[in-house]
Amino acid sequence: MSRPIETIGVIGAGTMGNGIAQVCASAGLHVLLKDIKDELLDRGLKTIEKSLAKFVEKGKLTSEQKAAALKNIGTTLSSQALASCDFVIEAASENYEIKKKILEEMDTISRPDVIFATNTSSISITRLAAGTRRADKFIGMHFMNPVPLMTLIEIIRGIATSDATFEATKLLSEKVGKVPCEVNDYPGFVSNRVLMPMINEAIYCVMEGVGKPESIDTVMKLGMNHPMGPLALADLIGLDVCLDIMEVLYAGFADSKYRPCPILKKMVAAGRLGRKSGQGFYTYS
Ligand code: NAD
Repeated sequence: MSRPIETIGVIGAGTMGNGIAQVCASAGLHVLLKDIKDELLDRGLKTIEKSLAKFVEKGKLTSEQKAAALKNIGTTLSSQALASCDFVIEAASENYEIKKKILEEMDTISRPDVIFATNTSSISITRLAAGTRRADKFIGMHFMNPVPLMTLIEIIRGIATSDATFEATKLLSEKVGKVPCEVNDYPGFVSNRVLMPMINEAIYCVMEGVGKPESIDTVMKLGMNHPMGPLALADLIGLDVCLDIMEVLYAGFADSKYRPCPILKKMVAAGRLGRKSGQGFYTYS
Protein backbone atom coordinates (compact mmCIF):
# COMPACT_ATOMS: atom_id res chain seq x y z
CA MET A 1 0.00 0.00 0.00
CA SER A 2 1.60 3.31 -0.98
CA ARG A 3 1.66 6.21 1.44
CA PRO A 4 0.40 9.71 0.59
CA ILE A 5 2.95 11.78 -1.29
CA GLU A 6 4.17 14.42 1.17
CA THR A 7 7.94 14.54 0.80
CA ILE A 8 9.66 14.74 -2.58
CA GLY A 9 13.30 13.88 -3.08
CA VAL A 10 14.85 15.94 -5.87
CA ILE A 11 18.25 14.73 -7.05
CA GLY A 12 20.32 17.45 -8.70
CA ALA A 13 20.09 21.13 -7.72
CA GLY A 14 21.00 22.54 -11.15
CA THR A 15 18.86 24.46 -13.65
CA MET A 16 16.01 21.96 -13.54
CA GLY A 17 16.35 20.49 -10.05
CA ASN A 18 16.08 23.81 -8.26
CA GLY A 19 13.05 24.76 -10.36
CA ILE A 20 11.39 21.44 -9.58
CA ALA A 21 12.13 21.88 -5.86
CA GLN A 22 10.62 25.37 -6.02
CA VAL A 23 7.32 24.35 -7.61
CA CYS A 24 6.92 21.36 -5.27
CA ALA A 25 7.67 23.48 -2.18
CA SER A 26 5.31 26.22 -3.37
CA ALA A 27 2.57 23.59 -3.62
CA GLY A 28 3.02 22.76 0.07
CA LEU A 29 5.11 19.62 -0.37
CA HIS A 30 8.25 19.00 1.66
CA VAL A 31 11.33 18.77 -0.51
CA LEU A 32 14.73 17.29 0.10
CA LEU A 33 17.13 18.59 -2.53
CA LYS A 34 20.28 16.56 -3.07
CA ASP A 35 23.48 17.41 -4.93
CA ILE A 36 27.15 16.46 -4.67
CA LYS A 37 28.65 19.71 -3.33
CA ASP A 38 27.51 22.28 -0.77
CA GLU A 39 28.15 25.15 -3.17
CA LEU A 40 25.81 23.58 -5.74
CA LEU A 41 23.07 23.29 -3.12
CA ASP A 42 23.69 26.90 -2.03
CA ARG A 43 23.53 28.08 -5.62
CA GLY A 44 20.30 26.14 -6.14
CA LEU A 45 18.72 27.67 -3.03
CA LYS A 46 19.81 31.18 -4.06
CA THR A 47 18.19 30.67 -7.47
CA ILE A 48 14.97 29.54 -5.80
CA GLU A 49 14.97 32.53 -3.46
CA LYS A 50 15.51 34.95 -6.37
CA SER A 51 12.78 33.34 -8.41
CA LEU A 52 10.29 33.43 -5.52
CA ALA A 53 11.21 37.09 -4.88
CA LYS A 54 10.32 37.89 -8.50
CA PHE A 55 6.90 36.27 -8.00
CA VAL A 56 6.41 38.45 -4.90
CA GLU A 57 7.48 41.57 -6.85
CA LYS A 58 4.93 40.77 -9.54
CA GLY A 59 2.20 40.29 -6.91
CA LYS A 60 1.79 36.59 -7.77
CA LEU A 61 2.94 35.45 -4.30
CA THR A 62 2.86 37.03 -0.85
CA SER A 63 6.01 37.33 1.25
CA GLU A 64 4.45 34.78 3.62
CA GLN A 65 3.98 32.29 0.76
CA LYS A 66 7.60 32.84 -0.28
CA ALA A 67 8.80 32.19 3.27
CA ALA A 68 6.58 29.09 3.56
CA ALA A 69 7.94 27.67 0.31
CA LEU A 70 11.54 28.22 1.40
CA LYS A 71 10.80 26.58 4.74
CA ASN A 72 9.59 23.49 2.89
CA ILE A 73 13.00 22.90 1.29
CA GLY A 74 15.78 20.98 3.00
CA THR A 75 19.11 20.19 1.36
CA THR A 76 21.45 17.24 1.69
CA LEU A 77 24.58 15.68 0.25
CA SER A 78 23.51 12.23 1.40
CA SER A 79 21.45 9.80 -0.65
CA GLN A 80 20.51 7.99 2.55
CA ALA A 81 18.69 11.14 3.74
CA LEU A 82 16.20 10.58 0.90
CA ALA A 83 15.01 7.33 2.53
CA SER A 84 12.02 9.17 3.97
CA CYS A 85 10.87 10.54 0.60
CA ASP A 86 7.54 9.38 -0.84
CA PHE A 87 8.42 10.23 -4.45
CA VAL A 88 11.83 10.75 -6.05
CA ILE A 89 12.52 13.03 -9.01
CA GLU A 90 15.94 12.55 -10.58
CA ALA A 91 17.20 15.75 -12.25
CA ALA A 92 20.94 15.09 -12.31
CA SER A 93 23.27 15.67 -15.26
CA GLU A 94 22.17 14.24 -18.62
CA ASN A 95 24.52 11.27 -18.60
CA TYR A 96 23.35 7.67 -18.67
CA GLU A 97 26.10 6.33 -16.36
CA ILE A 98 25.51 9.04 -13.74
CA LYS A 99 21.75 8.50 -13.75
CA LYS A 100 22.11 4.70 -13.70
CA LYS A 101 24.33 4.89 -10.62
CA ILE A 102 22.00 7.28 -8.80
CA LEU A 103 18.91 5.21 -9.57
CA GLU A 104 20.53 1.91 -8.60
CA GLU A 105 21.60 3.38 -5.28
CA MET A 106 18.19 4.96 -4.62
CA ASP A 107 16.56 1.62 -5.45
CA THR A 108 18.25 0.16 -2.38
CA ILE A 109 17.39 3.17 -0.18
CA SER A 110 13.77 4.07 -1.06
CA ARG A 111 10.74 2.12 0.15
CA PRO A 112 9.51 -0.32 -2.50
CA ASP A 113 6.28 1.65 -3.02
CA VAL A 114 8.12 4.88 -3.94
CA ILE A 115 7.83 6.05 -7.54
CA PHE A 116 10.98 7.16 -9.35
CA ALA A 117 10.56 9.88 -11.97
CA THR A 118 13.38 11.04 -14.20
CA ASN A 119 13.55 14.46 -15.81
CA THR A 120 15.82 13.23 -18.62
CA SER A 121 15.40 15.05 -21.94
CA SER A 122 16.56 12.23 -24.11
CA ILE A 123 17.58 8.99 -22.38
CA SER A 124 15.16 6.07 -22.75
CA ILE A 125 12.84 5.74 -19.74
CA THR A 126 12.62 1.99 -20.34
CA ARG A 127 16.42 1.68 -20.28
CA LEU A 128 16.78 3.69 -17.07
CA ALA A 129 13.91 1.75 -15.45
CA ALA A 130 15.56 -1.56 -16.32
CA GLY A 131 18.44 -0.75 -13.96
CA THR A 132 16.03 -0.77 -11.00
CA ARG A 133 13.77 -3.41 -9.46
CA ARG A 134 10.77 -1.11 -9.80
CA ALA A 135 10.28 -0.70 -13.55
CA ASP A 136 6.51 -0.57 -12.95
CA LYS A 137 7.06 2.39 -10.60
CA PHE A 138 9.34 4.24 -12.97
CA ILE A 139 8.28 7.10 -15.23
CA GLY A 140 9.55 10.11 -17.15
CA MET A 141 8.53 13.49 -15.80
CA HIS A 142 9.94 15.96 -18.30
CA PHE A 143 9.58 19.47 -16.87
CA MET A 144 10.23 22.42 -19.17
CA ASN A 145 12.79 25.16 -18.57
CA PRO A 146 12.32 27.51 -16.70
CA VAL A 147 10.29 25.21 -14.46
CA PRO A 148 8.53 27.88 -12.36
CA LEU A 149 7.18 29.55 -15.51
CA MET A 150 6.43 26.72 -17.91
CA THR A 151 3.12 24.90 -17.58
CA LEU A 152 3.81 21.60 -19.34
CA ILE A 153 5.15 18.34 -17.97
CA GLU A 154 5.63 15.64 -20.58
CA ILE A 155 4.83 12.40 -18.75
CA ILE A 156 6.59 9.50 -20.42
CA ARG A 157 5.59 5.92 -19.88
CA GLY A 158 8.32 3.30 -20.09
CA ILE A 159 7.43 -0.15 -21.38
CA ALA A 160 6.62 -1.42 -17.86
CA THR A 161 5.17 1.74 -16.25
CA SER A 162 1.95 0.80 -14.44
CA ASP A 163 -1.31 2.69 -14.73
CA ALA A 164 -1.16 3.41 -10.98
CA THR A 165 2.28 5.02 -11.40
CA PHE A 166 1.01 7.08 -14.30
CA GLU A 167 -2.07 8.25 -12.35
CA ALA A 168 -0.03 9.16 -9.25
CA THR A 169 2.45 11.13 -11.38
CA LYS A 170 -0.36 12.90 -13.20
CA LEU A 171 -1.95 13.91 -9.88
CA LEU A 172 1.38 15.14 -8.51
CA SER A 173 1.96 17.19 -11.69
CA GLU A 174 -1.43 18.84 -11.25
CA LYS A 175 -0.76 19.45 -7.57
CA VAL A 176 2.39 21.42 -8.45
CA GLY A 177 0.35 23.55 -10.86
CA LYS A 178 1.36 21.94 -14.13
CA VAL A 179 -0.48 20.38 -17.05
CA PRO A 180 0.66 16.79 -17.61
CA CYS A 181 0.66 15.43 -21.14
CA GLU A 182 1.06 11.70 -21.74
CA VAL A 183 3.53 10.43 -24.34
CA ASN A 184 5.38 7.20 -25.01
CA ASP A 185 9.05 6.36 -24.78
CA TYR A 186 10.65 7.19 -28.14
CA PRO A 187 13.88 9.12 -28.77
CA GLY A 188 13.30 12.79 -27.94
CA PHE A 189 9.76 11.99 -26.72
CA VAL A 190 7.49 14.59 -28.40
CA SER A 191 8.99 17.89 -27.25
CA ASN A 192 12.54 17.40 -28.47
CA ARG A 193 11.57 15.26 -31.47
CA VAL A 194 9.65 18.21 -32.86
CA LEU A 195 11.65 21.13 -31.44
CA MET A 196 15.24 20.01 -32.11
CA PRO A 197 14.88 19.22 -35.84
CA MET A 198 13.34 22.70 -36.23
CA ILE A 199 16.34 24.28 -34.48
CA ASN A 200 18.72 22.08 -36.50
CA GLU A 201 17.00 23.17 -39.74
CA ALA A 202 17.35 26.82 -38.71
CA ILE A 203 21.08 26.16 -38.24
CA TYR A 204 21.26 24.62 -41.75
CA CYS A 205 19.65 27.86 -42.98
CA VAL A 206 22.53 29.80 -41.38
CA MET A 207 25.11 27.43 -42.90
CA GLU A 208 23.60 27.64 -46.37
CA GLY A 209 23.31 31.43 -46.20
CA VAL A 210 19.52 31.37 -46.49
CA GLY A 211 19.41 34.12 -43.91
CA LYS A 212 21.33 35.76 -41.09
CA PRO A 213 20.44 34.48 -37.58
CA GLU A 214 18.46 37.69 -36.94
CA SER A 215 16.43 37.20 -40.15
CA ILE A 216 15.71 33.53 -39.44
CA ASP A 217 14.58 34.32 -35.91
CA THR A 218 12.45 37.25 -37.11
CA VAL A 219 10.67 35.05 -39.67
CA MET A 220 9.80 32.50 -36.99
CA LYS A 221 8.80 35.12 -34.39
CA LEU A 222 6.69 37.42 -36.55
CA GLY A 223 5.60 34.88 -39.13
CA MET A 224 4.82 31.90 -36.90
CA ASN A 225 4.13 33.73 -33.66
CA HIS A 226 6.91 31.90 -31.83
CA PRO A 227 7.83 33.88 -28.70
CA MET A 228 11.50 33.37 -29.47
CA GLY A 229 13.37 32.54 -32.68
CA PRO A 230 14.92 29.04 -32.99
CA LEU A 231 18.51 30.32 -32.90
CA ALA A 232 17.99 32.50 -29.84
CA LEU A 233 16.29 29.50 -28.26
CA ALA A 234 19.23 27.24 -29.17
CA ASP A 235 21.57 29.73 -27.46
CA LEU A 236 19.33 29.65 -24.38
CA ILE A 237 19.15 25.85 -24.23
CA GLY A 238 22.88 25.49 -24.90
CA LEU A 239 24.31 24.37 -28.25
CA ASP A 240 25.99 21.39 -26.58
CA VAL A 241 22.62 20.23 -25.27
CA CYS A 242 21.05 20.72 -28.72
CA LEU A 243 23.84 18.67 -30.30
CA ASP A 244 23.48 15.89 -27.71
CA ILE A 245 19.77 15.63 -28.39
CA MET A 246 20.25 15.60 -32.18
CA GLU A 247 22.79 12.78 -31.72
CA VAL A 248 20.21 10.85 -29.67
CA LEU A 249 17.60 11.29 -32.42
CA TYR A 250 20.11 10.42 -35.17
CA ALA A 251 21.28 7.26 -33.36
CA GLY A 252 17.83 6.31 -32.07
CA PHE A 253 16.09 6.39 -35.46
CA ALA A 254 19.15 5.73 -37.67
CA ASP A 255 17.60 8.22 -40.06
CA SER A 256 19.64 10.86 -41.90
CA LYS A 257 16.89 13.43 -41.46
CA TYR A 258 18.16 13.88 -37.89
CA ARG A 259 21.79 14.50 -38.94
CA PRO A 260 23.19 17.29 -36.72
CA CYS A 261 24.15 20.33 -38.78
CA PRO A 262 27.96 20.51 -39.28
CA ILE A 263 28.16 24.09 -38.00
CA LEU A 264 26.36 23.07 -34.81
CA LYS A 265 29.13 20.51 -34.28
CA LYS A 266 31.79 23.07 -35.14
CA MET A 267 30.41 25.69 -32.74
CA VAL A 268 30.25 23.18 -29.89
CA ALA A 269 33.83 22.06 -30.62
CA ALA A 270 34.89 25.72 -30.45
CA GLY A 271 33.20 26.18 -27.08
CA ARG A 272 30.54 28.50 -28.52
CA LEU A 273 27.72 27.06 -26.47
CA GLY A 274 25.28 29.99 -26.45
CA ARG A 275 24.37 32.15 -23.48
CA LYS A 276 26.32 30.11 -20.96
CA SER A 277 29.63 30.70 -22.77
CA GLY A 278 28.80 34.25 -23.90
CA GLN A 279 28.85 33.33 -27.59
CA GLY A 280 26.53 31.31 -29.77
CA PHE A 281 24.49 32.57 -32.71
CA TYR A 282 24.47 35.85 -30.78
CA THR A 283 26.98 37.47 -28.43
CA TYR A 284 26.12 37.90 -24.75
CA SER A 285 27.87 40.19 -22.31
P1 NAD B 1 22.58 20.96 -14.61
O1 NAD B 1 23.92 20.60 -15.09
O2 NAD B 1 22.20 22.40 -14.45
O3 NAD B 1 22.33 20.25 -13.17
C1 NAD B 1 22.60 18.92 -12.93
C2 NAD B 1 22.98 18.78 -11.47
O4 NAD B 1 23.05 17.39 -11.14
C3 NAD B 1 24.33 19.40 -11.12
O5 NAD B 1 24.18 20.35 -10.08
C4 NAD B 1 25.16 18.19 -10.69
O6 NAD B 1 26.10 18.48 -9.69
C5 NAD B 1 24.07 17.26 -10.18
N1 NAD B 1 24.51 15.89 -10.01
C6 NAD B 1 25.35 15.16 -10.76
N2 NAD B 1 25.54 13.94 -10.19
C7 NAD B 1 24.78 13.91 -9.06
C8 NAD B 1 24.56 12.94 -8.04
N3 NAD B 1 25.17 11.76 -8.07
N4 NAD B 1 23.71 13.25 -7.04
C9 NAD B 1 23.10 14.45 -7.00
N5 NAD B 1 23.29 15.42 -7.93
C10 NAD B 1 24.12 15.15 -8.94
O7 NAD B 1 21.56 20.20 -15.57
P2 NAD B 1 20.02 20.52 -15.85
O8 NAD B 1 19.92 21.41 -17.04
O9 NAD B 1 19.37 20.90 -14.58
O10 NAD B 1 19.51 19.09 -16.33
C11 NAD B 1 19.13 18.10 -15.40
C12 NAD B 1 18.26 17.10 -16.13
O11 NAD B 1 17.12 17.76 -16.65
C13 NAD B 1 18.95 16.43 -17.31
O12 NAD B 1 18.53 15.11 -17.39
C14 NAD B 1 18.43 17.25 -18.50
O13 NAD B 1 18.43 16.53 -19.70
C15 NAD B 1 17.03 17.53 -18.04
N6 NAD B 1 16.37 18.68 -18.67
C16 NAD B 1 17.07 19.85 -18.89
C17 NAD B 1 16.41 20.92 -19.45
C18 NAD B 1 17.13 22.23 -19.68
O14 NAD B 1 16.62 23.08 -20.44
N7 NAD B 1 18.26 22.47 -19.03
C19 NAD B 1 15.06 20.83 -19.81
C20 NAD B 1 14.37 19.64 -19.55
C21 NAD B 1 15.05 18.57 -18.98
